[in-house]
Amino acid sequence: MSEIKSLGLSPELHAYLVAHGPPADPVLESLVRETRALGPIAIMQVAPEQGAFLTMLVRLMGARRAVEIGTFTGYSALCLARGLPEDGRLLCCDTSEEWTAIARCHWEQAGVSGKIELRIGPALETLRALPGDPHLDLAFIDADKPSYVDYYEELLPRLRPGGLVLVDNVLWSGAVVDPKAEDANTTAIRRFNDHVAADRRVESVMLPISDGLTLARKR
Ligand code: CA
Repeated sequence: MSEIKSLGLSPELHAYLVAHGPPADPVLESLVRETRALGPIAIMQVAPEQGAFLTMLVRLMGARRAVEIGTFTGYSALCLARGLPEDGRLLCCDTSEEWTAIARCHWEQAGVSGKIELRIGPALETLRALPGDPHLDLAFIDADKPSYVDYYEELLPRLRPGGLVLVDNVLWSGAVVDPKAEDANTTAIRRFNDHVAADRRVESVMLPISDGLTLARKR
């Protein structure tokens, strides 16, 4: 085994890290408050440092066409859209009218709603209806775990060479290395991680940001 240099973050260290990220943002703060009010499901919202990282990645890549699978209340989409130029477009896929209503309202407040198209329905159907040519710069997968491989396989041919697939929750709170964890989500995440690691069409890196984030760049 190689030497471990990553840190487990204490609450204090995490707060320090967030405090040294982008300054307070009233729209994102309101979105966090409204999402918390939904109860335990709020765990599905991406962490602030991860959102800031998404914005930066979109900007660094100069991405113009992006897709998100799993929008929930819209935090990650807002961060992705902010990184896009004015004529950039983000297609968001989700199945919930209720959650995405919160998203729409905050996209409006943040002034990014013109860049976002939301499609309600099974994401696989939405993806399969897209043109098959490599027109996407970036995709973010953060939805039902058993479908991760299917989403990835629909997205990859539509990604331009050098395009990026980002995938959330790839460490699944550490359950990926727990031999007793054999539930459907954990086994699906393991299957997905093995799939990407063996995929010669991409170069990939798995980062211990939040619950684990994989970056897979199409060759
Ligand atoms: Ca997630």
